[in-house]
Amino acid sequence: MKFVVCVKQTPSTTAVLKVNNGVVSWDDPGGKPNVVNPWDEYAVEEAIRMQEKYGGSTVALSIGDESSQEALKTCLAMGCQEAVLVSDPAFAGSDTLGTARVLAAALGRIDEAQVAFFGKQAIDGDTGQTPVQVAVKLGWTPLTFVSAITAFDPAGGSITVERLVDGGKETVTAKLPVVISVVKEINEPRYPSFMGIRKASRATIPTWTAGDVPVAGPAGQAASNVDWSNVYPLPPRDSEVEMMEGDSIEAQVATLVDRLFEEKVI
Ligand SMILES: Cc1cc2nc3c(=O)[nH]c(=O)nc-3n(C[C@H](O)[C@H](O)[C@H](O)COP(=O)(O)OP(=O)(O)OC[C@H]3O[C@@H](n4cnc5c(N)ncnc54)[C@H](O)[C@@H]3O)c2cc1C
Repeated sequence: MKFVVCVKQTPSTTAVLKVNNGVVSWDDPGGKPNVVNPWDEYAVEEAIRMQEKYGGSTVALSIGDESSQEALKTCLAMGCQEAVLVSDPAFAGSDTLGTARVLAAALGRIDEAQVAFFGKQAIDGDTGQTPVQVAVKLGWTPLTFVSAITAFDPAGGSITVERLVDGGKETVTAKLPVVISVVKEINEPRYPSFMGIRKASRATIPTWTAGDVPVAGPAGQAASNVDWSNVYPLPPRDSEVEMMEGDSIEAQVATLVDRLFEEKVI
């Protein structure tokens, strides 16, 4: 049995984003502009825990340019046993449907894959659509917003999970194979170990190109039904700073309260 975890490399949460003529670029003053999508760390952790409990192996899978090797190395350092990068200019600019087609085709190439883990959303694209679209393309059952895996029976071919829904949780049992998107309540992701980082830094990650992945249907910029051509920053908000004057803190607070009443804030 293979537990596959799909990870996207995204800008770091502290990266400073710029938009010029609809083109988004970013840099990070901390020096690490790209990271594993933070939601995907929970998916990686859960895949590793499943492998530790039930055996089999874990495979981290990403579509992206060559720089996404870094995200995959983080997954290896955390404890994934294999990693695969799917990278081809033909896939660049795919919308979520194109991305899902490519991921589904890559998953189809991984023998014995029965459970595919995803984060609940990517912090850059933010649609949350990819996991369900992959499930549809593969004909696997999608289990979204999963906050716990409570039973797993590989021999019987079933899995039971808790889903976090508005105001509560629900328990769902499904037949394998399944696509699972996880929420942060599911676990606490581990830090990569020192040994893991050293091992990952020496790893050679295979790259699958369009010739290796038989995608059913179109992918790439030209096939995208979604046009992201109008990405723009919000205009700066008009604001002014007013210092509250007074001889004491009490007097300054009294002035502040008067001003808040005047402005109908309270
Ligand atoms: C700057 C920018 C420009 C874009 N421009 C365009 C455009 O011009 N046209 C267009 O149609 N779309 C565009 N996109 C959208 C792009 O197609 C999506 O980012 C991508 O398809 C995945 O959707 P998402 O980011 O909403 O992921 P979500 O659906 O929110 O991701 C959910 C989960 O799916 C998995 N996942 C998502 N992406 C990958 C991946 N690449 N590899 C492995 N796992 C993955 C992860 O587990 C993730 O947690 C753009 C996105 C960005 C950030």
